[in-house]
Amino acid sequence: MNDCIFCKIIKGEIPSSKVYENEKLIAFNDISPKAPTHILIVPKEHIESSACLSGREDISGAVFNAVAHLAKELNLENGFRVVTNCGRDGRQSVPHLHFHLLAGKELSEDM
Ligand code: 5GP
Ligand code: ZN
Repeated sequence: MNDCIFCKIIKGEIPSSKVYENEKLIAFNDISPKAPTHILIVPKEHIESSACLSGREDISGAVFNAVAHLAKELNLENGFRVVTNCGRDGRQSVPHLHFHLLAGKELSEDM
């Protein structure tokens, strides 16, 4: 999508601090981190949100393979949180599917 900020990051039109990439997705550091490790895992295909993931096990599988890869590479043995916000009530601010990988401190009990 032309005016999508994450599509622009994927195309390299907006810089990002990339930590991982494969043919299906890219992962980069969140510009406004909520934890010492705050990575966004973003499918390259413009999919609006997790509400559109039915039947897309290729995407969900790739995302959680990337989570496992990053957890190992970044030594997140104390644990981590994976969050995807969806729609208005879910407080999704960028309408291109992404998963927050949060780690590096004991996270709040509140989701
Ligand atoms: P959401 O609120 O949609 O779940 O999460 C969007 C996330 O994208 C936020 O945590 C926000 O800080 C991050 N973000 C928004 N614009 C940019 C950007 O241009 N670069 C990076 N690296 N992160 C961004
Ligand atoms: Zn997009």
